[in-house]
Amino acid sequence: MAQPRVQSEYPAVAPGVRDFIGGRTRKMLIDGKWVEAASGKTLTSYDPATEEPLAEVPAGEKEDIDRAVKAARKAFETGPWRRMTASERGRAIWKLADLVERHGEEFAQLETLDNGKPLAVSRAADVPLVVDHFRYYAGWATKVEGETIPVSIPGQQMLTYTLREPVGVVGQIIPWNFPLLMAAWKLGVALACGNTVVLKPAEQTPLSALRLGELLDEAGIPPGVVNIVTGYGETAGAALAEHPDVDKIAFTGSTEVGKIIMRAASGNLKRVSLELGGKSPNIIFADADLDSAAIGAANAIFFNHGQCCCAGSRLYIEAKAYDTVMPKLVEYSEKIKLGPGMDLATEMGPLVSSEQYQRVTGFLDSGKKGGGKAASGGGRPKSLAKGYFVEPTVFTDVKADAKILREEIFGPVVCTIPFKNVDEVAKAGNDTTYGLAAAVWTKDIAKANRLAQTLKAGTVWINCYNVFDAAAPFGGYKQSGFGREMGKAALELYTQIKTVWTNLGPH
Ligand code: NAP
Ligand code: MG
Repeated sequence: MAQPRVQSEYPAVAPGVRDFIGGRTRKMLIDGKWVEAASGKTLTSYDPATEEPLAEVPAGEKEDIDRAVKAARKAFETGPWRRMTASERGRAIWKLADLVERHGEEFAQLETLDNGKPLAVSRAADVPLVVDHFRYYAGWATKVEGETIPVSIPGQQMLTYTLREPVGVVGQIIPWNFPLLMAAWKLGVALACGNTVVLKPAEQTPLSALRLGELLDEAGIPPGVVNIVTGYGETAGAALAEHPDVDKIAFTGSTEVGKIIMRAASGNLKRVSLELGGKSPNIIFADADLDSAAIGAANAIFFNHGQCCCAGSRLYIEAKAYDTVMPKLVEYSEKIKLGPGMDLATEMGPLVSSEQYQRVTGFLDSGKKGGGKAASGGGRPKSLAKGYFVEPTVFTDVKADAKILREEIFGPVVCTIPFKNVDEVAKAGNDTTYGLAAAVWTKDIAKANRLAQTLKAGTVWINCYNVFDAAAPFGGYKQSGFGREMGKAALELYTQIKTVWTNLGPH
């Protein structure tokens, strides 16, 4: 949400983008070749601002996943990838970052057209974060180290050390909320550790991943190392999750599908990492800087239209500051400019799809029926006839058992709840099946850090929200999943430890 506001302006369509819009049919990437689905079927990607089709992509199914897994297996076992030095691998990932940067405007526009997010955000957040992310993991390629272990075997000298080896063929299933960034979070570390990949983008937003696939060869990543199979979750995604020759599956998406993935993965006991939903508590104390806390709370829920797994969707405000914070929050929310993402004046675009629009407006209805009051927003903006737009909505008077307070909405909808003291808010904050993120706003840093230790969440932000860095681990407690992406922690997910013993003879 850029402020001060800018004039309405549409950029010229970037040259590379033209190949991905206007109803064109794209292919997917298997073994370094651009191919159709074996069935010949396609699926349509839509522009959520106009509800018009953007492009057709292959609707890959089991047979295509089989082909992709075979290619990834071959690339892993016998391809040049495994013979490349760690330094060469790192340089290839770095080059990929350079290429994304060079084509940054194309990527930003593709992301906005396919997902709906404001172009200003795609330019300032999604694309630079992707570039940083690849560069960060390029550096890790040469630092994946084992250890020497001082063992105690009576009468025998032993040299015992560990190797940290790649897991092998990795399946990666990603959502539509940050299409390119989620691809980067998954690919960067997998490649740094020497794995090969089959990536399945979300059906709603396949275009930026396919464009990324076009850059792999120039980056020096050999054929078959990254395969990109577009298709539906129930077919392509399910086939990947249950595939007997996939060694690991990494998934970001809903908790519901996360559970399906785990069951599917049990067939060959493939490793699983899950980054799932959230219902993150955002806690404002009366002793906070209330201006920045109110704006911070608005950004916590409205950034990316609330379509963030870590969105600050439960806003707890200390009772004595409630009447000060609420008008600031409401005023800020009402000023957010909705419109098509390609308009540079837009601060909030449409939701990603018709399904998501139905889902979020369903929650709005349920909130109102349950006695909740919309202090701002609460429906569709009247000024926009087309597109999946929903107003930024601030609910008050929400009952403790209301669906809007308990379930992940994944839209621009926040529930505000007054609280009296730290113990009460710690208990309320943890009263959820999720545990992805939380935030605390206060000038009392000791209080904030004590509360951070009590909150059951994988990330706690103090006097900030939605701050990310490739070096800082991210992931869930409880049903928000397990495994940490980003930082050194992610190496655990993409390597396995081998212990090597050498008998050096008697003592
Ligand atoms: P989703 O179904 O969990 O989709 C995420 C990814 O999983 C997509 O690539 C999807 O494919 C795939 N998938 C779906 N069913 C699958 C299956 N049976 N086996 C393997 N893969 C499968 O999420 P959604 O339907 O897009 O959104 C529904 C809700 O999920 C949202 O409203 C939100 O609450 C939550 N969500 C959370 C996150 C997050 O980051 N935590 C991200 C997205 C959505 P398709 O492309 O065919 O769907
Ligand atoms: Mg789309």
